[in-house]
Amino acid sequence: MGYSTSCQKGGTLYRKFILPLGGAGVCIGSLYWLCMSPYSQLQGDFPYHGDTDERLVAITFDDGPNQPYTSQIASLLADYDIKATFFQPGACVERYPEVTQELFSAGHVIGSHAYSHRFGKYLHLKSIQQEIEQADAVFAKYLGVLPSLYRPPWLLRIPGSLAMIRSHLLQPVSGEFCHSLEIFQPNPARIARGAVSKAKPGAFILFHDGFDAKGGNRAQTVKAVKITVERLSNAGYGFTTVDKLLGIPAYRPLH
Ligand SMILES: [Zn+2]
Repeated sequence: MGYSTSCQKGGTLYRKFILPLGGAGVCIGSLYWLCMSPYSQLQGDFPYHGDTDERLVAITFDDGPNQPYTSQIASLLADYDIKATFFQPGACVERYPEVTQELFSAGHVIGSHAYSHRFGKYLHLKSIQQEIEQADAVFAKYLGVLPSLYRPPWLLRIPGSLAMIRSHLLQPVSGEFCHSLEIFQPNPARIARGAVSKAKPGAFILFHDGFDAKGGNRAQTVKAVKITVERLSNAGYGFTTVDKLLGIPAYRPLH
């Protein structure tokens, strides 16, 4: 095969396969940035930190309660006198209502994380609204209040969803993942190293005390939280909750 023939073939290969693949990559990257990135504000205000110069962070947990890990985290936080913010799917609260009630009584803040955590439910405004209302009914039943904070499952936003969330008097909240592989439970030192690197004044640091609202072993996360709070305390950081960093009430009264 001559040089020019193989060059032609290479060119065809590039045009037919590589270029579209690259284009698809750019598209997927842009879609991720627009709809799922913790940092993108393109669809509206989606805070991942509060405005403060103080060395204060909010430790947050998604996808619980999930036992025994959520209670282990609660007892660890009690040892250090730290209040955290727990974004809980309604379906998980129904599984362990007493755990959510204990967190609430201990002064932790409970935020809504919708109801089912099923990805397909967050692709349409109508089903997002149903999920918000279904979760509200669970919080009303077990806590007697409605959360003001709402973290969209998967951090997924679609056009109009942030405005719709606000129309329910909910504040959409993002957060910085403690470690990109936390869901696979790498060793606690790695998770903690990631979490500590995200600490800056006002940061919302995101851990998972459950996985996809289905439970799962979170033992490494529990250990990582201990390492993280010890390191941050030694670095002069204090801990607060997301509502305080945003300067809003943690709960809405019942309708
Ligand atoms: Zn989640």
